Amino acid sequence: MTKYLLFFSLLLLLACSNEQPSNKSNSPSLNFNHAMQSFSNYEEVTCKHLDWNATIDFSKKIISGTATWKFENKAKAKTIRFDNHALAIKQVQVNGRSTNFNIGTAFEKFGEGLEIPIQEGDSVVAIQYETSPNATAIQWLEPSQTAGKKLPYLFTQCESIHARSLLPCQDVPAIRITYNAQIQTPQGMMAVMSARNPQEKDPSGKYSFTMEIPIPSYLIALAVGDISYKAINERSGVYTEPSMLDKAAQELSDIPTMMKAAEELGGPYRWGHYDVLIAPPSFPIGGMENPRLTFATPTIIAGDKSLVTLIAHEMAHSWSGNLVTNATWNDLWLNEGFTTYFERRIMEKVAGKTYNDMLWELGYQDLLSDLKDFGDTSADTKLRIEIGDRHPEDAFTNIPYEKGAVFLRLVEETVGREKFDLFLNNYFQSHAFQPMTTDKCLAYMDEHLFKEHPDWKSKINVQQWVFGSGLPDNCPHTFPERFQQVEEKLNGMKQENMLTEMDTKTWTPHEWLHFLRGLPHPSSPSVLEKLDATFHLTQTTNAEIAMEWYRLGISSGYDVILPKLDAFLSSVGRKKFLVPLYTEMIASTKYKKLALDIFKKYQNNYHPQTASKLRSIWSE
Ligand SMILES: [Zn+2]
Repeated sequence: MTKYLLFFSLLLLLACSNEQPSNKSNSPSLNFNHAMQSFSNYEEVTCKHLDWNATIDFSKKIISGTATWKFENKAKAKTIRFDNHALAIKQVQVNGRSTNFNIGTAFEKFGEGLEIPIQEGDSVVAIQYETSPNATAIQWLEPSQTAGKKLPYLFTQCESIHARSLLPCQDVPAIRITYNAQIQTPQGMMAVMSARNPQEKDPSGKYSFTMEIPIPSYLIALAVGDISYKAINERSGVYTEPSMLDKAAQELSDIPTMMKAAEELGGPYRWGHYDVLIAPPSFPIGGMENPRLTFATPTIIAGDKSLVTLIAHEMAHSWSGNLVTNATWNDLWLNEGFTTYFERRIMEKVAGKTYNDMLWELGYQDLLSDLKDFGDTSADTKLRIEIGDRHPEDAFTNIPYEKGAVFLRLVEETVGREKFDLFLNNYFQSHAFQPMTTDKCLAYMDEHLFKEHPDWKSKINVQQWVFGSGLPDNCPHTFPERFQQVEEKLNGMKQENMLTEMDTKTWTPHEWLHFLRGLPHPSSPSVLEKLDATFHLTQTTNAEIAMEWYRLGISSGYDVILPKLDAFLSSVGRKKFLVPLYTEMIASTKYKKLALDIFKKYQNNYHPQTASKLRSIWSE
C-alpha cells in the first residue's frame, strides 16, 4: 500500500466475545506464533483454496456466510487452526460431517485462534460465521458519506492482518490461496473484488468472482456500492461512483503508459486486467494494491494528473508484493522498498528525470523526518526489523519505503542500471508467486550481482544498510534542479516585494510542497495573508497542498483557513492528512478545543482504525 497507513496502533480489543459458542476455551493456549502474528498451523496444514459465500447486510453492518477451505495436511496433524478476529462462528463441517471446534481466548489485537479437529484424508472444512459490526477490515459508509448520497457503501482493507476479521483464514503472507466467491448485495449495487470483476450491475445483486492466481490472505478485497465501470483500454479501466466516473477515467488515462514502463522493468504483467477502484473520500489510506483492482483514495483526482504517482506505486506492487511477497511483516521492506524504487522508475519513464528527482527528494525528506523521530540508533530504523509482539501496522513507516528505495538506488548506481534491471527482472520472474525473506533476497543479490564483484558489496555496505540502524553516509542524494528555484523563492521571502516577483505558473504540487514545508512554522499571519491574496492557497483543490497549507495556517494562527479546514476534515478520511492536521491543532493553544469539537462532529465519518488513532493523539 502507499505509505502513511502508519502511525496507528489498533485499540479495538475484541468486539463480540459474548457471541462465541459454548465450547470456547478459557486458555490462550492456541499456540500464538509471535514471529508470524498468527494462531494458524499453516506449515502443518496448509489452506490452498477458498470458496466464499457471503451476504452483505448494510442494516446490521455484518457479512454472513460460509468460508469453505480446501487444505493439504502434509504433517498428518490432528487439527487445523485459523486466525479469527471477533467472528461469530456458527457451525463447522469437515468433509461434510458436523464437528466441534474450539476458540481460544483473545490475544490483544491479534484476535483468537479457531481450532478444528480433522482426520487423516480430510481435505475440506466449511465454516459458517458472521462478522462483527466492528470488524477492523471493513468500513461501512452511510449514503451521506458517498458521492451519490443515495446508497450505502462498504470496502475492506485487509493488509496487514485484518483479513481474519472478514473471514476465518490462515492470515500470514507466507502462504497463497486461490478463491471463488459468491456475493449477495442489496439490489442496485455492484460488488467488486481482487478477482475477475463484473463491468455492469446485475439486477439480482448476485455476483460471482474467480481469482485463479494464488494470493496471500492480505490481498483478499471487496467493495460494494453504487459502482460503475469505464474502460481506459482493453485491459485497464476505472470503477467508481457514477458521478465521478468520467473525471476519474480522465485523470487515470496514463495507466497504459505506466503499465508499459512497468513491464519493461519487471517483465510481463501476470494478472490479466489492471483496474482501479476510486473509493469514497473516507478511504483511510492512499491506495491498496489489491490484485487486478487497486483501491485508491479520491484525493488523487486533482484534475491535472499531478498525484497519479500513487497509481504507479500500486501498479508496481503487481510485481513487488503481489508476485514476490514478503514472507513475514519483518521483511516488509521487500514489498515496500522495492515498490517505492519501482514506482520512481515508472515515473522517470512517464514524467522524466527532473520531475522524478522531486519525488525522490520529498521521499528523502519524509525519511529524514522519521529518522529524527525514531532516533538514529532505533532498531526500527533497520530495513529488516523485528516487530515482536507489536501489530504489523507499526512497521509501515517511511523506513521500509524510503530507506528501502534509496538502498536499491545505491545498488543500481553501483552495479550500473543495465545490470541492475536484468537482476530485477530475473528476481521477479524466478520467484513469482513465492514468499521472500530478507536473507533469501540478499543471497540472490550475492549470486547475481556481487559474486564477481565482492568490492561492490563492500562499497555499498549491504550489511549496514539492511541490518544496521540509521542512514549510512553513502546514501545517494541529488537535490532536484526544480527545487533550486523554490529555494530562491524561499530566500526571497526575506525581501518585502518577493510575492509579486514569484513566477509559479510552471510549479507542480511537488514544488508547492517543498515551498510550504520550507516556510517557517509558525509564520506571521500577514505573510500568509499575502501568499493567499496572490496564490489563493486556501481555495486549493489539491489535497496534498491543502494539507501543508492548513498545517502552516494552524501553526501560524491564520483563521482564514478554518471553514475550508472544517470542510476538509468532514469529508477526507485519509490518515496521511488527518493525523498531522489534528496533531497540529491539538499542539496549539488556540485550536486545541476546536480540534475536539470538529472530531466529535465527524468521528463517525472516519474509518474505525483512523478514529482510534485520532483518539490516541489526545492521550499522548
Ligand atoms: Zn506500497
